[in-house]
Amino acid sequence: MKSEIIVIGDELLIGQVLDTNSKWMATELNKQGWEVSRITTISDGADDIKEAIASAFSRVDVVLMTGGLGPTSDDVTKPVLCAYFGGKMIFDQSVYEQNLRYFAGRGLQMNESTRRQAEVPDVCTVIPNPVGTAPVMWFEHGSKVLVAMPGVPNEMRVAMKGEVLQRLRTHYGDHDAILHRTLMVFRNTESGLSERLTAFEAQLPSCIKLAYLPMPGVVRLRLTARGNDEAMLSNILDEMVEKLRVLLGGDIFCEEDTTLGGALGKILLDRKLTVATAESCTGGNIAHEITLIPGSSAYFNGSVVAYSNDVKHRVLGVPQDALDAHGAVSQPVVEAMAVGACRMAGTTCAIATSGIAGPDGGTPDKPVGTVWIAVCCGDKVVSECAHFVGTRAFIIERATQRAIMMLVDLLLSRD
Ligand code: AMP
Ligand code: MG
Repeated sequence: MKSEIIVIGDELLIGQVLDTNSKWMATELNKQGWEVSRITTISDGADDIKEAIASAFSRVDVVLMTGGLGPTSDDVTKPVLCAYFGGKMIFDQSVYEQNLRYFAGRGLQMNESTRRQAEVPDVCTVIPNPVGTAPVMWFEHGSKVLVAMPGVPNEMRVAMKGEVLQRLRTHYGDHDAILHRTLMVFRNTESGLSERLTAFEAQLPSCIKLAYLPMPGVVRLRLTARGNDEAMLSNILDEMVEKLRVLLGGDIFCEEDTTLGGALGKILLDRKLTVATAESCTGGNIAHEITLIPGSSAYFNGSVVAYSNDVKHRVLGVPQDALDAHGAVSQPVVEAMAVGACRMAGTTCAIATSGIAGPDGGTPDKPVGTVWIAVCCGDKVVSECAHFVGTRAFIIERATQRAIMMLVDLLLSRD
């Protein structure tokens, strides 16, 4: 079954807020077998909203919408929907009482504009919003359904998980399944990988699609299956994954769609290894990536953000001579930082970075974007000097990704 998502908000169109709602909704809809065939971002303008709904309904039966349901004058979605579906606004006592409880729970007094949140079109079914004041509205129009949800990400997620997905299931009954399998591959470029997989692609059954999702140093390969026999699709996907294992061998470093921090975590867990980080230019970002993963305490012991030479020397034991002779952004220093991190945190592995994230601080032989990275496991130490070009945030992000992948590479090369 096909659906479309419409996200509403001027803030999305001027780049002030990143649209995370549609990413989350598309993921959840896919899990339930709902194909999202289009995502549209529009302004808080009445004409844009009306046009977007009519256009989406000309293609699909199900439209999910977020945004524009706040109590302030810049949010216009509710009256526009009311007019579109030919209703009139009525006061919903149960929404009002829910909002009274919501305010009382926060020790707040309800004001007039929040009182108006209880006004809803008489042509919709109201779905309660336990974590906010804007009611979720379910409209039916012949065979078509439109669900309007608040833009606040948490309110939308609670509504989707709480009632919206279940209602869609009940309303439309069983339909085709969509299954995904993702393999994370390194040591290959995207084009090199596609050449290696030419014959594999040629024999793929028609119910399976292969997608290449490149990021620096990594390609995620996604197999997607669509059809009405979920068990059969799952078996075919298992077979295709097995074929890829044979074809790509050790170039597959993770068989799950996760972050680089997540992939590293799985490898460390598998091998019962532990890791620490010693970070200068990445400022703790590698530790952050690692600790975003639930359960990372099983393999992550700690980190030192060693920004000054003094901390590099006193906490990590980097020899003063190495700092004086080579400077902080150098191979001997970053290797000593990695070894020092293992000692300090009592780990088997470590990751260390020292570089110039900019925009100032570059020199002719060490321009902005120069980053020395070292990883170690036991007595094996590997280091490299990377050069990234971009903003400070970009350099930090790229150095983080490269550093994690260097440790992944070292751990998998030990096999
Ligand atoms: P609204 O329901 O339009 O009042 O939205 C309330 C807040 O939710 C906005 O100020 C944004 O910060 C946030 N928001 C709205 N739409 C989105 C979206 N598509 N993705 C992420 N955040 C959003
Ligand atoms: Mg808004």
